[in-house]
Formats: sequence, structure tokens, C-alpha cells
Amino acid sequence: MPLLVMKFGGTSVADLGRIRNAAEKVRAEVARGYDVIVIVSAMSGKTNELVGWVNETSPLYDAREYDAVVSSGENVTAGLMALTLQEMDVPARSWQGWQVPIQTTSQHGAARFVDIPRANLDAKFAEGFKVAVIAGFQGVSPEGRITTLGRGGSDTTAVAFAAAFEAERCDIYTDVDGIYTTDPRITSKARKLEKISFEEMLELASLGAKVLQTRSVELAMRYKVRLRVLSSFDDTDEQSGTLVCDEDEIMESKVVSGVAYSREEAKLTLVTVEDRPGIAAAIFGPLAEAGVNVDMIVQNISENAQGHDKPVTDMTFSCPVDQVARARKALEGARDAGQIRYDRLEVDEDAAKVSVVGIGMRSHAGVAARMFSALAEERVNIKVIATSEIKISVLIDRKYMELAVQALHDAFELDKTG
Ligand code: ADP
Ligand code: ASP
Ligand code: MG
Repeated sequence: MPLLVMKFGGTSVADLGRIRNAAEKVRAEVARGYDVIVIVSAMSGKTNELVGWVNETSPLYDAREYDAVVSSGENVTAGLMALTLQEMDVPARSWQGWQVPIQTTSQHGAARFVDIPRANLDAKFAEGFKVAVIAGFQGVSPEGRITTLGRGGSDTTAVAFAAAFEAERCDIYTDVDGIYTTDPRITSKARKLEKISFEEMLELASLGAKVLQTRSVELAMRYKVRLRVLSSFDDTDEQSGTLVCDEDEIMESKVVSGVAYSREEAKLTLVTVEDRPGIAAAIFGPLAEAGVNVDMIVQNISENAQGHDKPVTDMTFSCPVDQVARARKALEGARDAGQIRYDRLEVDEDAAKVSVVGIGMRSHAGVAARMFSALAEERVNIKVIATSEIKISVLIDRKYMELAVQALHDAFELDKTG
């Protein structure tokens, strides 16, 4: 039997009516002759509520218990989806991660797949079941505890199943009808793409475009999964949505193909640290150990060097806002232990990151200049810049984020095909 993976995100299973709507789409594929593995997210808002409860109960929580609580939203939708399909006379069975078993590492809250043995599901399909409904976002550790895969992780569950079961396609049903040049919620000029390369989607996802979890794109690229994003609310067919595929399948030749943003960023500056070999390692080692995801880094000559007999420098870096407390603790710990010395730590919690992405940048100069002048025209001040082969990112004041995304979308004429 040919097999499809169909994943439904939170808004697509937000209530019983929407679960029925999603189940109709599954039934249509079964009627076309497919066996289907359905991956479901928690009902929209549910995971946030569960995370909130954990934080309220225990701010520095035990991550094993975080996973026990936060994974539960998906269990409800998996069961409800199987029941809805049964009511439609489609033979379906639900599976929680541990039942498959979806084997992961034991990094609670950010676990990675180790293996998805096929035997249990294959046996069920052989018995005549047409649909296996899998609770997304979760797995089981070698110690036998429930794990979760990081926010947005159901996308990755879907791609991992598509790879393990050699699915014909992995369809990600969501609340937009494809992948756009930027988040369509930020500008109505955003244009839906027919296709996007794995590399560009990987970069957009890792820079904040939450339409796909970064790890899902990585896995799709590695295992050559045909990955598609489409709407769960529209009538759809085999041509609908956006296909994520190899670069050589793409006809468009724009230098920049998308703009991404990450809203909740913070900028931290260690003022007047000693300028000596090993200082970066002494700063970023403890941050890494504390699990802080440091992103952009700049080292500057300090304005406050007077009064210091040894050379000093300022070290600036960015990280997600919700990791500031952990970063502060790690740095103060390193200072108290005598590993680093600094005069003060300045924290700006009102930053956002905006990035332009395009494989065309490999062969075209001038993208950075165009980006910076578009931001200058809007009088948006740039705090930190970072570049790589196919992206340029800037850290700016959060209040200018929407404006910056719109200005860059215009400057690179992303509303036009090319
Ligand atoms: P789901 O609950 O289905 O997983 P998400 O909210 O995680 O859905 O992802 C879909 C959202 O991603 C869209 O509603 C949209 O606001 C946002 N998004 C960000 N960047 C893009 C983009 N480039 N193209 C499409 N959607 C995007
Ligand atoms: N429910 C989880 C989240 O909100 C996983 C997902 O929807 O992909 O992050
Ligand atoms: Mg998502």
C-alpha cells in the first residue's frame, strides 16, 4: 500500500469540528487508496497553558516532569482523532510516543529521535487498520521516561515517520495555505511560494519562521522526504501548498527569497572584561553549560577602558528573552568563581531579530548594503549584525520589527515573482 503522512497543527485540531474537518481530509486519502499515518498537535493554546502551569508550579522545574505535563495535550487529540475516524467508518488506532515506541535521547524538552521501529504499526496496518494516529511532539527516553521535542516538534515527528515508513509524501496541514516570502500576518504583500529549497527553508526556520520546526527541515533534507505545507481549511489537491525540495527543482532566481523574524530577543553586554586569550571561552563556556542559546556575538573596544591597567573589551551577545535570567546567573557564577571579571552586565530585553535569506546571496554582492539602506530609510537603528553564506541578520528594537520586515520585503521586491 502506498503511504502518506498527514500532520495537523494546533489550529487545525482546535475543537471537535476542526478535528472532524481534518478527519475528512484523512478519509479522502484513504478513499484514494493510501494507508495514512496522521500526526496531531495539541489543540491550539493547550501547550502554552500546560507550560504556564509548569512554570507557575516550579520556576526552575525538573525537565522530566515538564515533559510529563506538556506532552499530554497531544494524547487528547490523538485519541479524539482516532475516535472521529472510527465514527466515519475508517479503521483507525491512536498511539502515544512510548507505545510505538518513538525512541529519543533523554534531553528533556529538546529530545532528538534515535529510532522509530516499524513493527507495531506495520502489524496494525497488516490487520486492516487504514490509519495510525500518532501523538506528535513526544517520545520515550532510554530510561523509559516521556520526552518532548521542543516547541513546534510535531512537524519533526511527521517528517521522522515519513522517513521511517518511506511515505510518498509528508503533508503538513496548518492555518496558512503554504510557505510565504514572509509571515503573511506581518504584511499582506507576502507572496506564497510554489516551491522553496531545503537550504532556504532551514535558514528561515532557524531564524524564526515557525511554519516548520527547524529540525523537521533538517530531517527532510537528510532523508529526501517530499515535504509539503498546505491549508487544513481550504479544499486541497496534489498541487496545493508549497513544496520544500532540492535547489535544482526551483525555477525562481531571486537573490533574496524570504524575510524571517524572531520577536523575543535580548541583547546582553559584559562591560570591560579583560582582553586576554581564552576570555571568550571563559564567558561562553558557562553560558553553554547553563543551556543558554547564544546567537549573535560581537566583541568591541570598550568605551570604559580608562582606569583599567590591563587591556579591556566589551562582549555583546544575544539570546532569547526567556533565557536572560539563566544567562545572568551563569555569568555571575563565573565571576564569583573568579573565572571572569567585568564591571557590569547591561541587559536590553526589548530586541528583535530580522533576517533576509536567499541562496542567490552566494553569487551576488550588495545584499547587505541594500538591506542596511532600506532600514536606514525607515530610521531603524541596527544594534548587532550577523551574516552567513545565505543570510544576513540584524538585531533591532522590537518596536520596529514589523516595520523592518515590511521595508525589507519591499526593498527586495519579494511581492513580485522573479
Ligand atoms: P501549526 O499550529 O499548524 O503548527 P504554526 O503556528 O506553528 O502552525 O505555524 C504556522 C504559522 O507560521 C502561520 O500562521 C504564520 O503566521 C507563521 N509563519 C511565519 N513565517 C511564515 C512564512 N514564511 N510562511 C508562512 N507562515 C509563516
Ligand atoms: N504542541 C506543541 C507546541 O505547541 C508541538 C506542536 O504543535 O508542534 O509546541
Ligand atoms: Mg507549528
